[in-house]
Amino acid sequence: MLRVCAQPGNNYRVAATCCAGELGRLTVTNGVPGLVYVSAGNEGTLEGFQGRLSEMVTVWRRLHVELDSMQDVAQNHIAGQVVRIIRSADFSRAVRVVVNRNLDDGSPNLDHPPFGGLGNGRFELGTIRVGVASPPPGPSQTETRWLDGNGERYVQKNLGAGIEIPFRLSKAPHPDLQGKVVGYEKANRLFTVISPTGLGNGQQYKGGTLNVAGVKFVVRRIHHPLSIEVEDDVPLPFVLQDDDDNTVLANQRTPDVGELAPALAEAFVAPVYDLANPNPVAPFRANIMGVFDPDFGQLFLQRWDSRGLNANDYWVAYVQSGFQYETMADNDPGLVLLAGSTAEGAVLGTTLMLGLGGCMVYLEVIRPAEGFPAAAEKERDTVVHEIGHVITGSGQEPVTWGNGRYRPDYLRMIRQAVRPLP
Ligand SMILES: [Zn+2]
Repeated sequence: MLRVCAQPGNNYRVAATCCAGELGRLTVTNGVPGLVYVSAGNEGTLEGFQGRLSEMVTVWRRLHVELDSMQDVAQNHIAGQVVRIIRSADFSRAVRVVVNRNLDDGSPNLDHPPFGGLGNGRFELGTIRVGVASPPPGPSQTETRWLDGNGERYVQKNLGAGIEIPFRLSKAPHPDLQGKVVGYEKANRLFTVISPTGLGNGQQYKGGTLNVAGVKFVVRRIHHPLSIEVEDDVPLPFVLQDDDDNTVLANQRTPDVGELAPALAEAFVAPVYDLANPNPVAPFRANIMGVFDPDFGQLFLQRWDSRGLNANDYWVAYVQSGFQYETMADNDPGLVLLAGSTAEGAVLGTTLMLGLGGCMVYLEVIRPAEGFPAAAEKERDTVVHEIGHVITGSGQEPVTWGNGRYRPDYLRMIRQAVRPLP
């Protein structure tokens, strides 16, 4: 019976002989007079040695990997009421929609550049829907895409037609008037509009209906030539989405572990996926950062069913797919398409130190639209990278060559590891 040590990559050759004292003549140091050198080769006999040798055998370890997913995306938007609409200087379009929600998520935005640089805010390249869905012929909820960005309480789009908000003014028997809203003051119940036909003096619509993107108001007065004052303080709703891809977690997608086996093979570790996994899905959170997140334990560690199995002689690792790291490192704002934009660096994955262990890979940010044209490769490399931290407990960077293969330092540390985190 031969008992080997547990370090992956350690090599052994077994020698057997019937002649007393013969084994003591073997050495792994070449060129010692009177002794017989044993190479790392596979030959069964050696010149001058009365016995047989096994071929070289190498220690491999298994890494038992548990793979979980965050639940599918839900409620990844902000809804509320429009309180003001601000027109362009030339009266041609609405360029800002001011809302009753705080849109500041800590990222640099059009009001606050916390890092001293300009930023377009989380809703850069996002979408706003104004109004309510309603059947023709009246106007209905509209969608404006490719926003410039946001300030603390507004979104902005200067380009093109600005933010599209249609209206229809009607009072039988007069013909309906249509056009678009370019200004609004909720406090004064006052809309500023433009219409191809103009409003004329417009007094015939007093007491009629102003339909703004599906929301109906009673007309109190027309202020010549562009303003319509309404009677009621009906809410004008909005829904705001950023440029996230809300499909990345669909069907409980777990991170792609396709490069893990070849990467770990270089350190003589073989990942296996043989763990019982009764709780494979964690609740959705758009942004989750790790240890300092208040309900992190609920969302992450409680789903790690195999955590208690991790031991020196039974290596366990945990990988969960997530959506985005914290709001200041989720690439919203991200693309440098607009003048003055500052890209927010994205964290692609995180490994929990501080005695917690496990890692998360953020699928929303590993996409071509977020600056990773070879997204599939990047995702596999991120898994390899985080598992490097998990096995070694080291936070040293860089971990891989960027191609899903460990750098020499990490191969060495993996081979010397006692067990993965925690
Ligand atoms: Zn790292």
